[in-house]
Amino acid sequence: MLERSDSLPPILHVKDLYTQFTTRDGIVRAVNGVSFSVDQGRVLGLLGESGCGKSVTLRSIMRLLPARTTKISGEVLLNHDNVLEMGDGEMEDIRGRVISMVFQEPATSLDAVYTIGQQMIEALQRHNGMSKGEARSRSLELLRLVQIPSPESRLGSYPHEMSGGMKQRALIAIALSCSPSILFADEPTTSLDVTVQAQILHLMRDLQTDLDMAVILVSHDTGVVAELADDVAVMYAGRIVEYGPAAQVLLNPEHPYTEALLRSTPRPDARGSRLPVIQGQPPNLIRLPSGCPFAPRCGYVMDACMQEDPGDRWVDPTHSSRCFLVQDGQTLSSLRQHTAQENRAAETIHQSEGLK
Ligand code: SF4
Repeated sequence: MLERSDSLPPILHVKDLYTQFTTRDGIVRAVNGVSFSVDQGRVLGLLGESGCGKSVTLRSIMRLLPARTTKISGEVLLNHDNVLEMGDGEMEDIRGRVISMVFQEPATSLDAVYTIGQQMIEALQRHNGMSKGEARSRSLELLRLVQIPSPESRLGSYPHEMSGGMKQRALIAIALSCSPSILFADEPTTSLDVTVQAQILHLMRDLQTDLDMAVILVSHDTGVVAELADDVAVMYAGRIVEYGPAAQVLLNPEHPYTEALLRSTPRPDARGSRLPVIQGQPPNLIRLPSGCPFAPRCGYVMDACMQEDPGDRWVDPTHSSRCFLVQDGQTLSSLRQHTAQENRAAETIHQSEGLK
């Protein structure tokens, strides 16, 4: 797990987190030994296909999963206190005040029968003990902060009277209302159209910088993660398979799954050409294979991959990859360079033979 030696202790430190659900078909192993930390003022992007455990990780930390059918183990230290050992009352107090969350679907996250003002004022009175007047002025301030025009009249609007982008801005305002130490954003722009997506991403980036806030951003979209994240954790089958600074992970992936995800991302310069897809399906989380869980879909698979899980391997002190290709000074990026050189050499030979 990465820890920065040049900064204060992390706000959130997750160690060996496991989450399992009991279902009629068996035990679903949704999160399988996830560890990471997030510092103040940093954005961690959790990246991966749907069902890889990103959202379950956030909900496990927030303790938002049904206790009767969920088993969570490990350590979740929030400012040094283990969230997994807290009582329900303490947890209720922490949600919204210390950790806040912005969900994917603004329409269902807001309560349709209350105005935006009522929802904001209620949250401020409950968590910050403000009077109604104080809570109203703070709500106006927050609506201005998220750049909602005519905030006075918007306080009296019901969610159905607002556009998708406006609702997401209002949700961000509600999430920030108690000045949380850390904000969780779960696919915050997925349900919005492309132009509004860009506006919300810019807003989140500005707010995160201005408020020096820690953020965990969950997304399946490499473009969204590239826009906001300082560090990236790529998840597959409930594990972190690659972890490191965003620029390294997204420009020089060291795990075949990250490489495949990036290849399958639409690029403006590739318009008109067929987009590669990752063949096959993620593994069944009730019956996880014994070796590397990506093996059935991996273009680099070797015998060892079918026998055992490689565990975390370090490319450098800040960048890890859970893959056998990282060993004895060899990495996936060195392999790519080598293959590219070989291809260039073969092309030169081919051209010179054509000239004979
Ligand atoms: Fe592919 Fe093997 Fe690496 Fe898994 S360990 S990602 S199967 S090369």
